[in-house]
Amino acid sequence: SRVLLTGGSGFIATHVLETLLARGHSVVTTVRSQQKGQAILEAHPELQKDRLNYVIVEDISQANAFDKAVVSKPPFDAVIHTASPYHFNAKDAKELLEPAVIGTTGILKSVQQYAPSVKRVIVTSSFAAINNIYTQGKGKIYSEADWCPITEEQANDNPANAYRASKTFAERAAWNFIDTEKPSFDLAVINPPLVLGPIAHNLASLSALNTSNQRIRDFITGAAKDRCPPTGNYGYVDVRDLALAHVLAIEKPEAGGKRFFTVSTHFSNKAIVEIIAEEFPEFKDRLPSGDGLIPGDYPADGVYGFDNSRSRGVLGLEFRNLKESIVDAVHSLLAVEPEI
Ligand code: NDP
Repeated sequence: SRVLLTGGSGFIATHVLETLLARGHSVVTTVRSQQKGQAILEAHPELQKDRLNYVIVEDISQANAFDKAVVSKPPFDAVIHTASPYHFNAKDAKELLEPAVIGTTGILKSVQQYAPSVKRVIVTSSFAAINNIYTQGKGKIYSEADWCPITEEQANDNPANAYRASKTFAERAAWNFIDTEKPSFDLAVINPPLVLGPIAHNLASLSALNTSNQRIRDFITGAAKDRCPPTGNYGYVDVRDLALAHVLAIEKPEAGGKRFFTVSTHFSNKAIVEIIAEEFPEFKDRLPSGDGLIPGDYPADGVYGFDNSRSRGVLGLEFRNLKESIVDAVHSLLAVEPEI
């Protein structure tokens, strides 16, 4: 297929791009600057521009941002929309809500208006759009049937809620668009929990590292030595498995109209520390230990569970284990800053 991939400079999108190319698809990706686009082309000198190219979309929160990007020769068969801010530094919830919601509805509108050849759009949502942070606890098993109940008011409570709301409202807006507009394409949504694993995107330094891998960086630099940070959500997926999920969601006709909760299994920050200590003894002195590990452990009264049977069944997805994700992530961070 010919695929438009948004946010191609990102951590997850870089792996989606690699997986698309490896499986024979041709890709145009959106980036925010020529510099980021050129870095992607330079990573694939062997490919002709008809298999890989980029277009600039500076800000997805602008109305009609994608009108030009969705038009290509030959025309697109599918769109994968990953671009959306993921950080916990928002001063105002709007900083996350606008690009998430306007970006998602914007690309659906542009496809509907200008790209009639597109048969499917994939949106990268999140476990944040599933997780009920207000009632979660032991005994609950999360699946695609669940929705985060966050309100517009709660979105302003703190930066983490702003992010949760941005993912929840953007995904709701996408399904709502399908229900009300009944476009000629269908929608599939990928809901990953925390995404870990090797970085493959162009990074000048680890200070610009994507949010989900920052905890691994902070362990190997010693920044978290005194106190292991709390884990937050206890589910993870390897970025390579998640990338494959996005591509399988294009390739499998039966994926249309569904959400996919692509969760490997449980993890805790303490478990990450233990893997690093075992596999990279040179960092042992920088890692939290003893009582310092307690905040990063599972809650004493147990943790909620996950149901990933739809991802396994419909997509045929299999999941890597935590050790492989962490070991490969550490190697990739050391490749960026060997003197870390
Ligand atoms: P990154 O920060 O690496 O990627 C985010 C991408 O979105 C970047 O390419 C960024 O461009 C782009 N972007 C952000 N804001 C805008 C904007 N206003 N206009 C244009 N482009 C924008 O993070 P991830 O790869 O981790 O995230 C990708 C997707 O996956 C997001 O939708 C995120 O919510 C979702 N997700 C991630 C999880 C994780 O643990 N990593 C978990 C669950 C969901 P630039 O770099 O140029 O700013």
